[in-house]
Order: sequence, then C-alpha cells, then structure tokens
Amino acid sequence: MEVPFERAYPFELADKLEAERNLTDKEFESVILCDYPGFDEYLAEKARAVREKYYGKKVYLRGLIEFTNICKNNCYYCGIRRDNPNAERYRLNEEQILTCCAAGYELGFRTFVLQGGEDPYYTDDLVASIVSSIKERHPDCAVTLSIGEREKESYQKFFDAGADRYLLRHETADKEHYEMLHPAELSFDHRMQCLRYLKEIGYQVGCGMMVGSPYQTVEHLVKDLRFLREFEPEMVGIGPFIPHHDTQFADRKAGTVGMTVRLLSIIRLLLPDVLLPATTALGTIDPIGREKGLLASANVIMPNLSPADVRKKYLLYDNKITAGDEAAEAVRDMTKRIASVGYEAVVDRGDHVSLGTK
Ligand code: SAH
Repeated sequence: MEVPFERAYPFELADKLEAERNLTDKEFESVILCDYPGFDEYLAEKARAVREKYYGKKVYLRGLIEFTNICKNNCYYCGIRRDNPNAERYRLNEEQILTCCAAGYELGFRTFVLQGGEDPYYTDDLVASIVSSIKERHPDCAVTLSIGEREKESYQKFFDAGADRYLLRHETADKEHYEMLHPAELSFDHRMQCLRYLKEIGYQVGCGMMVGSPYQTVEHLVKDLRFLREFEPEMVGIGPFIPHHDTQFADRKAGTVGMTVRLLSIIRLLLPDVLLPATTALGTIDPIGREKGLLASANVIMPNLSPADVRKKYLLYDNKITAGDEAAEAVRDMTKRIASVGYEAVVDRGDHVSLGTK
C-alpha cells in the first residue's frame, strides 16, 4: 500500500513493530491512537501475513462448554457475579459435561474448553475427575480449563489428570486499574501469580484483557502489551467490554470493534505464533465482528457446545450471541463465516506451534 509522506510516521512504526516485534511505550501509544485512514488495513495486512506464515489459512474451532454460571466472585463488570440476584443459576454435572463432549466429538471437535464461574461445588477432585473422564473417552482431544483462580496444587492436580491448557485472562496489567474493576477481596497479585504457576506447571496458557473496560487508558493498554510480550502466553483472548444491565457498569460505554481488531493485529506482530481467538464478545457488538477479527489475524473460534437451555443463562454481558439450538448449527454457522473471509475451519487439536520465533 502506498503511504503518503505526511502519514509516514505511524506506518513506519507498524513496519518497526513487524521487524522488531517490539516498540517503545510511546510508540505503542502512537500505534494504539493513530487515526490515519488506511492504518488498520496496513497493520492487518502485516498481521495476516505473519499468521499465514505459521498457521496458513486454518482457523481452529474449539468446543466451548460453559458448565456453570455460579460464582463466588463479584467482578464489577460481570453479569454472573455473586451479588446479581437476577442471574438464573445453573450447573452441569459430570455426565452432562461428558454428553456435551461426546456430541462435540461426533462433530469433529478435538479441543474442549470448560469454562465457568468460580463455583466451589466443583472441588479439585471433581474437576480432576471430569478432566480424566474426558481424556479417557477422548484420548486424542485437548482439554482446556477456564475456571479462574485456584491454588498451585489444584492446578497441578488438574494437569496431572490430563488438562492441557488453561485460560485465565489477566483482565488488565495495571494493578490500580484492576482494583477499579474488582472488589478488594480479589487481588491483582494473586491473579498474576496464578498465571505464573500455570506456566511453571506446563500448561499452554492463555491470558488477555478486556478492551475498553471502564477507566481503561491508553497507558493501561501499553502495559497490557508489555505484559503479553514478557509473559509470552500460548494464547491471548481479548474482547470488548460490554455492559451488563445488572452491574454497576450498566451505563458504561462498550469497547469498540475498531480498537479490538487493532489490538489483535498488534498482538499478532508482537507474538507471531500466538493463538488468537475472535471472541463471542466481538461477535456481539458487531454482527460481523468475528470476521473482522479473523481479517486482523485471529485464528481461533470457540463455538458453544453447551446445552441450548443453559446457553442464555451464561450471560456475562448483555445481548450475548448464541448460534442456533444445536451445536451442529453453531459449527455450520461458524464454518460458513470463516469461509466467507477466505479461511478454513479445522477441528484438529491445533496446539500452539513454536517455530523458533521466541
Ligand atoms: N471465572 C473464569 C471465567 C470468566 S468468564 C475466570 O475468572 O477466568 C471469561 C471472561 O469473560 C472473563 O475473563 C472476562 O474477561 C470476560 N467478561 C466478563 N464480563 C464481561 C463483560 N461485561 N464484557 C466483556 N467481557 C466480559
């Protein structure tokens, strides 16, 4: 793409980011804030080239099972937080979870992501038993857990039971900002410590932040990028903050598609072989948000395999999208969307590839 002279500076920064996989804090700020026409296309083109170098045209589908919306925490932004009396609560038992996995397996899924609130009903032993049952029945599948903060010993137990990956978004890399989004009983340091434990144990680890969360500044986003670069997670899940009507952030503005896709491109250039989902939140604020995410180098999508009757209850934010009543429908829908932007949906395990980029 031809770059007009007076617009060269941010475009040069994009070139530098591509070449050096890093920028100074000030330079990151310029890239995040740049409003030159054509800049996002320029950045996304580079990000796509990098993603295609490592992953070709493949987009990995992961089967998401939201197995409980009961939560002992009270994150201010979250619709299923403890103190929301209007959330209709549910939990799936081991048999129901295994049934979801079996249905997903028939559809071709080889990764199952078990996500939920921090629900004490699922003791360490129960989680370990669920993980080992899934692995026994489907030894060729990867199991990902996303059940929040636990002790190191618990994480070790799940790993020993066969869990391969763990998603725990850091939410924000700035401690003060973290404290504006969470009550005092939740600690930034503990969340970060959990991420380090997960890595030490040997999980493929995912972290990530909400984009446009209340009080977020460009400095916070720079800190997030700095953290991602240092921590080198195998996966980075980011999505726009979306208000939920039963939270204290009900009247806040949602994050934008534009900022989310820009950050996806930046993260791809920072961590070339990272697994990068186009998230449900992105598809919620824009009907073709996930397609835009794919074009900004996202390479993972997580269709929902939870039973239809509970899907509407896992309401982290307002208007959360759900595709059809059947898992099969969700897969068909996602496969079509992925093809519409020139990519190919695949269901194999799709482990993180480390091709000596680190
Ligand atoms: N209890 C687990 C899973 C949380 S739900 C944990 O603590 O990790 C998964 C993610 O949804 C959260 O990490 C958060 O980043 C996101 N989320 C929650 N509320 C949201 C909202 N209102 N808007 C956008 N994303 C939200």
